[in-house]
Amino acid sequence: MTRIYNFSAGPSMLPVEVLEKAASEMLDYNNSGMSVMEMSHRSKVYDGIIKEAEAKFRKIMGVPDNYKVLFLQGGATLQFAMVPLNLLTGSGKADYVVSGNFSNNAYKEAQKFGTINLAGTSKADNYAHIPQQDELTLDPEADYLHICTNNTIYGTTWKYIPETGNVPIVADMSSCILSEPVDVSKYGLIYAGAQKNMGPAGLTVVIIREDLAGKTQPTTPVMLDYKVMIDNDSMYNTPPTYGIYILKLVLEWIEKLGGLVEMEKINKAKAKVLYDFLEESKMFKSTVLERDRSMMNVTFKTGDEALDDKFVKESKAAGFENLKGHRAVGGMRASIYNAMPTEGIVKLVEFMREFEARNS
Ligand code: PMP
Repeated sequence: MTRIYNFSAGPSMLPVEVLEKAASEMLDYNNSGMSVMEMSHRSKVYDGIIKEAEAKFRKIMGVPDNYKVLFLQGGATLQFAMVPLNLLTGSGKADYVVSGNFSNNAYKEAQKFGTINLAGTSKADNYAHIPQQDELTLDPEADYLHICTNNTIYGTTWKYIPETGNVPIVADMSSCILSEPVDVSKYGLIYAGAQKNMGPAGLTVVIIREDLAGKTQPTTPVMLDYKVMIDNDSMYNTPPTYGIYILKLVLEWIEKLGGLVEMEKINKAKAKVLYDFLEESKMFKSTVLERDRSMMNVTFKTGDEALDDKFVKESKAAGFENLKGHRAVGGMRASIYNAMPTEGIVKLVEFMREFEARNS
């Protein structure tokens, strides 16, 4: 068996220990005589899995008691609609910062449901930086401010939490959740698709301050109503059972590593290997402002498209998959989520160094 270094932006690598454990329990989970995929979501054994997944998630993320954790479907993209359907019901106005592709998608979707103010954007520099507090125009009457804390395509990350007074912050953390500690109490709602740091695609995790639920727009379908999901412990219908089980295994893996404080140290050290090389290299350059660069998605270019293509092709042949950058940025992108081993990045840098020597 050969496992390659997979730099995909998502779905992306899962820890080998998690995959091995899932494989060992595939046919017979905990003497139940069946796979987790085959069991009723209402069975006692599955109840143990989902409860443990939630308890571990709450502990690792430090979720305060007045917040609910929900296991939903529809990806982060469904949250682009679900958030306004549920939260845009006070003044009917919300602020959105557009710092990349997905926050722009969220901004466009929300416009169907109320009055949406573009509170700030870095579109002018092709999202190479994160708008700072003094670049934001915030409405004190807004029902919420929406941000995307890590921009998967552009390789930037919010290093500060905006000051909004009493306006709750809604954050898309799809590509950075569980990568570092988060002060959940600073947010009204956090959501994330699972397929980068949590598990397989098909599961979306939402953390919501309880008082924000229950003011849903009247025509909201039940499946899109946070209050319905809260009242039914994420089991109004069949939840994504296997994804929740894998999340439980991922959380056990993080717990064993020492939780999010340790996870952050590892991630910082990993990203540093690559960023240090980008600073030293005469060929490869980071595409974003140093202050705002992401630990999870590292974007870089040679400045010559043909050379970028050559690099992507040769890196693939050398066992480094999915390094081609998103078409919106071009160049390369190395997504180095929690499960990417340090060795993968060290080897990538060796390959880059060697490629540079050969092509200069
Ligand atoms: N937000 C961010 C930050 C993302 O990276 C992605 C997917 N790459 C999405 C939203 C969309 O997620 P999904 O495909 O789960 O709907």
